[in-house]
Order: sequence, then C-alpha cells, then structure tokens
Amino acid sequence: MGMMGMDNKEKIYNKLMDIVKEENVKVDEMLRDHLYTRLGGKADFFITPSTYEEIQNVVKFSKEEDVPFTLLGNGSNLIIKDGGIRGIVINLKHLDKISSEGNTVVAQSGARIIDASYYALEQHLSGLEFACGIPGTVGGALYMNAGAYGGEIKDVLDYAFVVDKEGNLVKRLASELDLDYRTSNIPDNGDIVVEATFNLTPGNYEDIKAVMDDLTYKRESKQPLEYPSCGSVFKRPPGYFAGKLIQDSKLQGTTIGGAEVSTKHAGFIVNKDNATTTDYIALIEHVQNTVKEKFGVDLEREVRIIGEDPE
Ligand SMILES: Cc1cc2nc3c(=O)[nH]c(=O)nc-3n(C[C@H](O)[C@H](O)[C@H](O)COP(=O)(O)OP(=O)(O)OC[C@H]3O[C@@H](n4cnc5c(N)ncnc54)[C@H](O)[C@@H]3O)c2cc1C
Repeated sequence: MGMMGMDNKEKIYNKLMDIVKEENVKVDEMLRDHLYTRLGGKADFFITPSTYEEIQNVVKFSKEEDVPFTLLGNGSNLIIKDGGIRGIVINLKHLDKISSEGNTVVAQSGARIIDASYYALEQHLSGLEFACGIPGTVGGALYMNAGAYGGEIKDVLDYAFVVDKEGNLVKRLASELDLDYRTSNIPDNGDIVVEATFNLTPGNYEDIKAVMDDLTYKRESKQPLEYPSCGSVFKRPPGYFAGKLIQDSKLQGTTIGGAEVSTKHAGFIVNKDNATTTDYIALIEHVQNTVKEKFGVDLEREVRIIGEDPE
C-alpha cells in the first residue's frame, strides 16, 4: 500500500470513477503488460480517459488532491522499475482518431505514429514515411521528438493541443516545443499532448510506399524485433555511434540475469529470458561504465527509467 492508506486509496478510486467511465479505471494494474520490455511493477491506478475534458479533470483532481500522475503511451521508450508507479498512470489508448484536411494529418495522441504514417500514405501525403516503424504513440513521439532514417517529428509537426499542468486545453506551435534530438520541453512544462497536426506535402502513392517498404526492410533486417526491448537504449554521442562503441567494447552477448546486449544490434538490450528491471538497469550501467573505460565516451540514455525500487 506504501504512502497510500486503504481509505485514501478507496477515496481516490471513487473520485476517478466520477471523472472517467467506471470501466476505464483499474487498480493495481500490472504495467509490464503495457510495456515493450515486458518489465515493471504495478500502477496504483491505471486510467484510460476517452475525452479531452476527462484528461483536464484528472489533472485538476491530481493537483487539488496532490496525487501524482504519469503518462504512459505505448511503453516503447520506458523502463518502469519493479516497485511500480505510485499514483495515477494515464494511458490515452481511447483517443486514437486520425483524420486529414488538405495537406495536414490530424492525429489524437493515443494513435500509433505508425498508423498516422500509413494514413498519410492513403491520402497520398509525404513527410511521415520515417515514422512507419516507430512503435510509439503520437504523444510519445512528440515528447521524444522521435525520428529515424533522417526524418524526425520536428520536420513535420505544425502544432499540438496539450492539457497544461493547470488543466487548460492549450494550442502549442511546434516552434514552442523546443524539439531537438530526442527531446522536447513537454516534460519540463508538464504538458499532456492530446492531439497533433502534421503539415505534409502531396506526393505519389507508389513513391511514398516504396520509401516506407525500404525503411521497413532495413529495420526488420537490423533490429532484434523477435525479443522484447525498448529500442535503442542510448542516444548518439556527438561524433560517435553508440552501437559501434558497444560492439568495439565486445559487449554484445553480455548478460545480467535475463537481460542481454543484443547480438543482432549492439544498441539494443533485450529481455531475453524473464529479466527483471533490476537486471536491465544493471546491464545498462555496465555498458555505460565499460564504454567510458575503453573509449572515454559518456553514453547518455535515450530510454527513460521511472517508478519505484521494489520494497
Ligand atoms: C523496437 C523499437 C524500435 C524503436 N525505433 C525507434 C526509432 O527508430 N526512432 C525513435 O525515435 N524511437 C524509436 N523507438 C523508441 C520509441 O518507440 C519512441 O521513443 C516513441 O516515440 C515512444 O512513444 P511511446 O508512446 O511508446 O512512449 P512511452 O514509452 O509510453 O513514453 C515515453 C515518454 O513519453 C511520455 N508520454 C507518452 N505519451 C504522452 C502524452 N500523450 N503526453 C505527454 N507525455 C507523454 C511518457 O510519460 C514517457 O516519459 C523504438 C522502440 C522500440 C521498442
């Protein structure tokens, strides 16, 4: 139960059921079921709002009652510790509509960015091809300024709607989000992304599809997609490639518990055999220390680690 007594927990549960539909509030939800790594403890509350207004009301409630909340997208860039997350985890899977108007594609933040890129293809719109294999949500992609093969969200985002930390629905231009290599100011501002509008260019269906097929082939042949993982663990250090440094440090195949530095792509750490988050984090640190020792380079994590240590 931790910091939250039973009475308090019931009070929060009842209040959350006033804000979002009853079936969209879960208690003690196993987060590993929502994460690409298949690792991590439980969330006290796991809610899936179905309107922007519900999100606004959750934010206001969280502020008034001092109950923290955490956003969880598709869980493809997150490691959640084995002790789980206290307070409310918000997942926007019910807000997944994608539409288009003129040369724009408008996607709610719970939609998968992969689906937005295929939707753009169907509209003969070019610009989102790079995202056709990134397994995150639109919200997670903005938060991370996700990118691949020379493209990134920054190139195509026009504006977003967010719920700010006061609970207001606010429009933010792309230029106001400080989008940079795998970062944005979304965490600093405490914004929840609810919708994104992408500015695209009319193109030829076959040409757009050919680019997407090529990127899919490259991804499938290079990445160990057969095991749970969180993608590239580290950012590209200036002047180097993380994968090459790890490979040259002879770290591929190294294991701690059930976690392994992938033999197929050195930048990935895979959950090969029932790893715990503790194994996974220990292996990340081992890689960082070894590369620092051998090459004097600091590997900065791209993947985010959140949650509590086990009691
Ligand atoms: C096999 C594999 C391949 C990958 N390839 C790439 C790649 O090519 N390029 C790349 O950039 N990334 C890649 N990734 C990483 C990942 O897919 C991206 O970082 C993605 O943008 C994360 O989105 P998500 O919805 O999964 O976010 P999550 O992992 O759920 O969350 C990431 C962060 O975003 C926050 N967040 C999520 N939704 C919202 C929201 N609506 N509002 C505010 N904050 C929010 C979360 O709180 C968290 O801090 C890969 C991952 C895997 C597993």
